[in-house]
Amino acid sequence: MDLTEEILLKEGKMLPVMEHFYTLQGEGHHTGKAAYFIRLGGCDVGCHWCDVKESWDPELHPLMDTVEIAEIAASYCKTIVLTGGEPLMWNLEILTKRLKELGCQIHIETSGAYDMSGTLDWITLSPKKTGLPKEGIYKVANELKIIVFNNHDFTFAEEQAAKVSENCKLYLQSEWSKRNEMYPKITDFILANPKWQASVQTHKYLNIP
Ligand code: SF4
Repeated sequence: MDLTEEILLKEGKMLPVMEHFYTLQGEGHHTGKAAYFIRLGGCDVGCHWCDVKESWDPELHPLMDTVEIAEIAASYCKTIVLTGGEPLMWNLEILTKRLKELGCQIHIETSGAYDMSGTLDWITLSPKKTGLPKEGIYKVANELKIIVFNNHDFTFAEEQAAKVSENCKLYLQSEWSKRNEMYPKITDFILANPKWQASVQTHKYLNIP
């Protein structure tokens, strides 16, 4: 990356886009809604079970003009999901400003490990033990999504739930490779702790992106 590109990246005029596509939101509160996903490259949180490890190195993903990607996304539908990687590694001011001008609702899926930027309408906070969220994001999160990989994740889930607002929706979602083991445990946990709901990666069952 040359110096000019570094400056454009810092200003949020360009972003490393790994992929962008229309699909149905598969997880959480907005499951089933039409959504255009913008997956930004770059993440240093390091979850060992991460299913998008190819996103980690931002240098592997082409820099795209931010206004152009906003206009492509908004031409499909008006719910835009910013995901990654860790999308908050980047300056999202220009991207979200243009998306708002185009009438979009902007959702983000983040570990919360970086400071927020831009205008966001729905924040899905998915905290990771290897890179805990910044304190400020807990109170503005709309949904908390804990990925359950082992039994300790239920304890972690309750610790994290203690930090979010009363209105924040609480979801437990099994890590995909553990689903046969963990969904029965999630089912029992929710019976005992009904403030939680299960989230399922429905797009994987539907064989859509
Ligand atoms: S935060 Fe997300 S993208 Fe980053 S390593 Fe963890 S699961 Fe992967």
